[in-house]
Amino acid sequence: MKFKQVAKHSREMIERWINQKVLGGKMNEQLDGTLFIYGNEVHHFTKTSSGDWVIEPQEVTQVVVFRKEAEPEQLNMCRACGQDYDSFKEAIQCCAYLD
Ligand SMILES: [Zn+2]
Repeated sequence: MKFKQVAKHSREMIERWINQKVLGGKMNEQLDGTLFIYGNEVHHFTKTSSGDWVIEPQEVTQVVVFRKEAEPEQLNMCRACGQDYDSFKEAIQCCAYLD
């Protein structure tokens, strides 16, 4: 895998992240378009028209990330199989006897 020269720290972190994903069985195609944000640096993992995978720095002056509130926990869901129930009691009884 060939990478364009980008700032050293972010490059190392991004390469390590991508290598871990690839070792975990991901294809480069599945990582296509991944956006990496490191401080105010933004890098884009993408394939060039010549077929090389590159970590491409994006020209931005400022990065602002708005995080959404975490999804509320679904209390009436069986933790073993994920089945939804109308009541918490039903949910905890779902897979209770299957051990
Ligand atoms: Zn269940």
